[in-house]
Amino acid sequence: MAMVRSEALLAEIRDEFPAFRLRNKRESHLQRAIGVALAVLTLGGQRMYITRYHTVIFGTLWVADAWAHMGDDARYVLLRHERIHLRQRRRLGDVRLGLLYLFVFFPVFFAWGRAKIEWEAYVETLRATAELYGVDAAQRLRPELIRRFTGPDYGWMWPFPSRINAWFDAAMHAIREDKQNRS
Ligand SMILES: [Zn+2]
Repeated sequence: MAMVRSEALLAEIRDEFPAFRLRNKRESHLQRAIGVALAVLTLGGQRMYITRYHTVIFGTLWVADAWAHMGDDARYVLLRHERIHLRQRRRLGDVRLGLLYLFVFFPVFFAWGRAKIEWEAYVETLRATAELYGVDAAQRLRPELIRRFTGPDYGWMWPFPSRINAWFDAAMHAIREDKQNRS
C-alpha cells in the first residue's frame, strides 16, 4: 500500500520538529505499564491504550497496534491531529502541558485542561477529514467525538454532551465557512 500522503506529512512534521520520533507502544515496557495503569484507573473503561490509541509524549508519537493496519488517508488524518499536540508542546512546554493535561481540574472526570487540549487537536481531525472525505464525513464524527469526550477513553474528561455539541457545531461552522471562502 503506497503511503504517499502520510509519508509527505511525516516529512513535514520531521522538518518542523527535528527531534520527532515515531515508535510502537508495544515495544516499550513503560508504554505497556501505562496501558495497564489506565485500564485500572478507568476501571476497565480504557483498555485500548496499546491496541488502538496513539499518543504523543515528550515529542515522540507512540503508535498503537492499529497503526500497522491503517491506510494512507487514516494515517494522514491521525498525523494532522498529533501535529497539533506537538505544536501545543512547543507553545506551552512540557511542564505546563503536562499539568494542564493531567491535573486541570482533576485527573479523571472534569478534566477541563485535557478536554481543551484534545479539542484543539480534534478540530484538526475534523478539518483533515473534511479535506479528504468531505464535510459530511466530518459531520458524521459527532457521536464518536461526544463518546470520546464524555466517556472513559480519556477518563471522562468532560462528561457534558451539551458542551461538546456546542464545540462541535462551532468547529463545523468554521470548516464550512472556510470551504465557502475557498470556492
Ligand atoms: Zn489527542
